[in-house]
Amino acid sequence: MKTLKLCGGEVVNPDGEKKGRLDIFIEGDRIKSIGTDLGSADETIDVSGKTVFPGFIDIHCHLREPGQEYKEDIMSGTYAAAKGGFTAVCCMPNTVPAIDNASVCALVLSKAQNASAKVYPVGAATKELKGKELTEMGELAAMGCVAFSDDGRPIGSGAMMLAAMQYAQTYGSFIMAHEECLDLKGTGVMNEGLNSTILGLPGIPRAAEETMIARDLILAESYGLRVHIQHVSTRGGITLIRAAKQRGVSVTCESAPHYFSADDSWCSGYDARTKVNPPLRTPDDVAAVKEALLDGTIDAIATDHAPHHKDEKNIEYALAAFGISGFETAFSLAVTNLTQDNDKLAALFSVNPSRIIGKPGGVIKEGVPADLTIADMEAEYTLTEQSLVSKGKNSPFIGHALRGLVTHTIVDGRLVYSGGASCK
Ligand SMILES: [Zn+2]
Ligand SMILES: [Zn+2]
Repeated sequence: MKTLKLCGGEVVNPDGEKKGRLDIFIEGDRIKSIGTDLGSADETIDVSGKTVFPGFIDIHCHLREPGQEYKEDIMSGTYAAAKGGFTAVCCMPNTVPAIDNASVCALVLSKAQNASAKVYPVGAATKELKGKELTEMGELAAMGCVAFSDDGRPIGSGAMMLAAMQYAQTYGSFIMAHEECLDLKGTGVMNEGLNSTILGLPGIPRAAEETMIARDLILAESYGLRVHIQHVSTRGGITLIRAAKQRGVSVTCESAPHYFSADDSWCSGYDARTKVNPPLRTPDDVAAVKEALLDGTIDAIATDHAPHHKDEKNIEYALAAFGISGFETAFSLAVTNLTQDNDKLAALFSVNPSRIIGKPGGVIKEGVPADLTIADMEAEYTLTEQSLVSKGKNSPFIGHALRGLVTHTIVDGRLVYSGGASCK
């Protein structure tokens, strides 16, 4: 079996015993030993001065395949994920056709076999994401779907959401909920507030998100069900989730880097790269998201990587597609705007995501799959469009100075990405 040794890195391992400046010896797809004087390997990578994290897991992304390969495909998307340090990603089912049956799921899994990151599909909760009829969740779960969601759309009917949560739980699974009341959203394209008024753009009220979070927390609590709330963006939503967690409700949640890195003032100038759903909120919401990530109310940072073709973004704000291309900036945005506490970063990018989806990860120890993310925490660079390897170049952070850069990503003992210098 091929062997690989990582030398001299600072091992960050909040859930493991071995941490600090240590070497890691990989044999085949597994970590064989961690320590010093581990002998020679077929290949050695000097990672001294760098930080070694358990592989990052992104529990919310859009790989667009099948059906929208002009935006992204599984190969390009997982390479962008690997460049961002993600060793595994959960892809949402709003493909064309949707991942709502075994054959589409099998297609995604087969395309993912040679991908640069592990791909865990999230199955559709309802057929064609229409909110009318449940999918065959048992069959999809058996194939490897780690959760169910109609992401991109809410499950509008409370009765249908309850049925979906109950049915998923039957198979030991759960719903990832895209919380949005379409009536309250109306024709909104950005956060409802002073900035939407100044720009003359229709607003999306916080209530569109918060009312649905409240509904699903009540369903989870009343019926003893588990729910995961996606892309939390408002202080009110966080307050509801924090209180529910204190009451013992089985809820986890995520937020995305853009919700702690940008606010709705960024929409001035009608730059459609800032158009995302839920929308960028106010500075107070940004502060609330940061607090909640640091105090553990928000369990995970997920990218909601939503690549689009430039012709869908470089147009009038009201007509542009919702979404930000997020794989390649997530870690740097967290280091730049949230925290430089390595244990906290490991918790939000690896330990908690692994627990939420019930897949291996989150710890560096002997015998586990060798999924590792190596970063230069001191690197500073300005993000350029040319540096993005995703087909989607729709990032509002292009031109911004960022700190912390992934330099190597290892999946099952394979070096799937190395670089970092090119975009310095
Ligand atoms: Zn969503
Ligand atoms: Zn999404």
